[in-house]
Amino acid sequence: MTHYAYQTGRETLELEVDYVVVGSGAGGGSAAVTLARGGASVAVVEAGAWRDPEDYPYTLYGAFRDLFDEWGSSVTMGRALSPVLQARTMGGTTVINSAIVVRTPGDIFQLWKDQVGLDDPDMPETIWTYQDQIERELSVCPVPTESMGRSNVLALQAAENLGIEGHVIERSVKGCLGQAQCLQGCRAGRKQSTNVTWIPEVRRRGGTVLSCAPVRRLMHTQGRVQGVEGHFVHPQTRKKGSRFQVRARRAVIVAASVTHSPMILWRSGLKTPALGKGFRAHPGTATLGSFDDPVDMTVGATQGMASTHFRNDPGLKLETLNMPLELIAGRLAGAGKTLMDRVQNYRNLALWVAAVRAQSVGTIRPGIGGKPQVFYTMNKADMLRLRQGSIQLAHLFFAVGAKAIMPGVHGLPYALGPDQIHLLENASLDPRAWTSILTHLFGGCTMGAEAGKSVCDFDGKVHGTEGLYVADASIIPSVLGVNPQHTIMALSRRIATRLMERNL
Ligand SMILES: Cc1cc2nc3c(=O)[nH]c(=O)nc-3n(C[C@H](O)[C@H](O)[C@H](O)COP(=O)(O)OP(=O)(O)OC[C@H]3O[C@@H](n4cnc5c(N)ncnc54)[C@H](O)[C@@H]3O)c2cc1C
Ligand code: SF4
Repeated sequence: MTHYAYQTGRETLELEVDYVVVGSGAGGGSAAVTLARGGASVAVVEAGAWRDPEDYPYTLYGAFRDLFDEWGSSVTMGRALSPVLQARTMGGTTVINSAIVVRTPGDIFQLWKDQVGLDDPDMPETIWTYQDQIERELSVCPVPTESMGRSNVLALQAAENLGIEGHVIERSVKGCLGQAQCLQGCRAGRKQSTNVTWIPEVRRRGGTVLSCAPVRRLMHTQGRVQGVEGHFVHPQTRKKGSRFQVRARRAVIVAASVTHSPMILWRSGLKTPALGKGFRAHPGTATLGSFDDPVDMTVGATQGMASTHFRNDPGLKLETLNMPLELIAGRLAGAGKTLMDRVQNYRNLALWVAAVRAQSVGTIRPGIGGKPQVFYTMNKADMLRLRQGSIQLAHLFFAVGAKAIMPGVHGLPYALGPDQIHLLENASLDPRAWTSILTHLFGGCTMGAEAGKSVCDFDGKVHGTEGLYVADASIIPSVLGVNPQHTIMALSRRIATRLMERNL
């Protein structure tokens, strides 16, 4: 029932509940609501502020300031500096994502069996059963025809023209207005992010929520974790407020994201050999297509068409992505009149992306000021996949009459015509030549059978500890080749359910 937001004063806020859930995104939201429905007392401790949809900022600048982790400025260290995007707000990255919902493919469970010793034959059925429930709870449905917008329709037509699989995306959105604003938070409140669904339900069921409350460390003695502590932080000034300590009678469930969950364990002195290892991602690159007549990217669902045709070979997912002018402008090269001409052409542009099912592996370590730092470089095989993705996007664009494409690759002309795809085929494989972004992240607290090679077991229990569980994307020991939030939510529901079944 109670919501503790930023507060100042010398007194420590002290609370005690059955379960403390750290983070309120895909993993944390799912765990918290599952525990609350089971009758447990739950406290959700979230670093970001609580914002209702009508309070989301109008501008992209405001979204980076108020909703994104570190203003969206985190980048990988490695051969290239690729942005690593996550949210820091009540609802986590579900607030700023495109709400695409894809079931965990069956081959993933086989992969986990072969590579990290998954020994639960019931896992696939359990996960799919939870995904049935989640789809009902979050109103998952295909993008309605009236909200598609021209870019999504063009991409579907392009896939059909080329004879490759292409489909209308399913999303957790109720009554989409097609305002292409998902990445800034859906001000219309249509997207079913956890801050408008499960976290309010946790509160209705008597749960407690702390916002602006980044957990600094876990309280523990002799491997038994008893709670969490930290200081409130003002969402705008970043000024430190009162201290808080939330004790857990049963368990602490860490779900603070791929980069932050390992750091919480690290700061708490619970460093194990695998902590921060096994970082993986679906690096994505975007190509602009220019048409003779308006496409109007800001009309239509942010993402409405996808193709999994190349998921296994070479390992790609193709999608549309409607983006606001502020973001697109960064991709329009030139200055003065040239730039203005290109900006004027915005209405005629469409943006489509290729996300790589990458095999490259990185690590997460404490960086400057103790903030998480991702070390990651795409290997040559993944760069070949990325280039292949860009080539497929070019074929799609030209299959529906685009006049030119802008792949954004250093060393190539700014715009390529239909007879210049060979230039893309020979584009540099140096990661620094490409514009790629990491939004689907995995690992850092990976699950596995062997304690030396993983951080937690398949129930999310951190090896060598009592009362400590991880339930977010950081436990996933591979890439998925599909959008991850459904898998994260279902895994988290499984972890919370099994915790309660054992009455822990
Ligand atoms: C732009 C973008 C678009 C995406 N689109 C899709 C999509 O359409 N479909 C899809 O399946 N996936 C999508 N994803 C990925 C998906 O949203 C994430 O994989 C998923 O939300 C990760 O869940 P999580 O619980 O691990 O972390 P998050 O959802 O990021 O939640 C972590 C939470 O922990 C909080 N936190 C961090 N540190 C602390 C701390 N010290 N103390 C307390 N709280 C803390 C954060 O503020 C955050 O609220 C997208 C991602 C991005 C960036
Ligand atoms: S496309 Fe617009 S209306 Fe639809 S879910 Fe996204 S932000 Fe909301």
